[in-house]
Amino acid sequence: MKCLALLSGGLDSILAVKVVQAQGVEVAGLCFVTPFFGPHSARKAARQLGIALVEHDFTDAYFEMMKAPRYGFGGNMNPCIDCHGLMMRTAHGMLERHGASFLATGEVLGERPMSQTRSGLNAVLKLAADRDLVLRPLSAKLLDPTKPEREGWVDRERLLGLSGRGRKPQEELARQYGLTDYPQPAGGCLLTDVKFSQRLKELIAHEGLVRADIELLTTGRHFRIGDRTKLVVGRRQAENERLLAARLAGDAVLRPPLEVKGPVGLLRGPADDAQLGVAAMILARYCDVPAGGQVKINLYRGDASSVIAAVRPGDEEVAKWML
Ligand code: SF4
Repeated sequence: MKCLALLSGGLDSILAVKVVQAQGVEVAGLCFVTPFFGPHSARKAARQLGIALVEHDFTDAYFEMMKAPRYGFGGNMNPCIDCHGLMMRTAHGMLERHGASFLATGEVLGERPMSQTRSGLNAVLKLAADRDLVLRPLSAKLLDPTKPEREGWVDRERLLGLSGRGRKPQEELARQYGLTDYPQPAGGCLLTDVKFSQRLKELIAHEGLVRADIELLTTGRHFRIGDRTKLVVGRRQAENERLLAARLAGDAVLRPPLEVKGPVGLLRGPADDAQLGVAAMILARYCDVPAGGQVKINLYRGDASSVIAAVRPGDEEVAKWML
């Protein structure tokens, strides 16, 4: 018997694997990838558990879901119920390919306010392709028996009945299993982050869900200088390099002259001369010149380059454009 376990890399998902493995079931981990969450923690967990990991990028389906999540968003831009539902529906379609008969998840009844209340867990199942194949080993004893339990693929008696927000039982189990290195719950999903969610909302309102733009949201200071035009300014060397690496055909790069210390600016979207002037003025704010001093900002777009003379503005001027 083989099971595909949704593995975020958080403690609950690790424990769910352990509980199923303890019954002699072969487990492969499955983690989903989007610009909002990645495989980093799951890779670490799979190594620790000694199981194979399937990484599946379902960004297109995820963006589609985010346009109108049936159960709405949580405190930030996190559509947790629809997100879990989509993961389960997608995972169901992967069972046969991976020779697995059922799914396991690390959900715990009552642990999270939206997606893991009893009604939240049921809502997730409504979105799953086959609710009967979704085993929640950590709370199974408090939930209706699923096919793997009824068919005797796993022994329901040896599954758990955890519930609530307290982490003590999980920590005790982790100790028993000898697990010491695991991330904190809910870490790693950008959609639960306040600042990221604000930037994402603003982006969606102007430009929709565009992967390349979303990937920029965690880098630098952001400025909206046109309905479809943004400037991103690096805050440190690593961000400057990330911006240069993220440059797309059609993007412009702004830089101060070599003799002036200052950041890289990445300008994305159409810009007329006035908007280029605004972008150069904003970049000048972060250059190493006194307020009111002039900087000649170099602008590179495609093979062309030009120079824009800008005066370093005060913070209140720059704040008008900052997101
Ligand atoms: S926290 Fe993020 S990854 Fe987790 S269920 Fe919510 S939206 Fe999905």
